[in-house]
Amino acid sequence: MDELTPAQVEELRQDLLALKATLTAALEGPLEHREAEEHRLALTRQALAAIEAGEYGTCKRCEELIGYERLKARPEAAYCANCAGGHHR
Ligand SMILES: [Zn+2]
Repeated sequence: MDELTPAQVEELRQDLLALKATLTAALEGPLEHREAEEHRLALTRQALAAIEAGEYGTCKRCEELIGYERLKARPEAAYCANCAGGHHR
């Protein structure tokens, strides 16, 4: 797995900011999905903080690189596909 380039990190940071705006707007809508949205918003905030700290793109469990492709699909992902495997399929 290749490390993210600065350009990829910047691109994913923009994706995260867009996601954060979408989720923030969604939280003002109907109640039904609010819990999931709040959880995802928390992950999004953590991912943005990780970018600031220079720790973005590393699995929180096994410390392997998460990889650009997975982050492009889920920029807020905190775990690699292996570690998240049981939960997000
Ligand atoms: Zn992992």
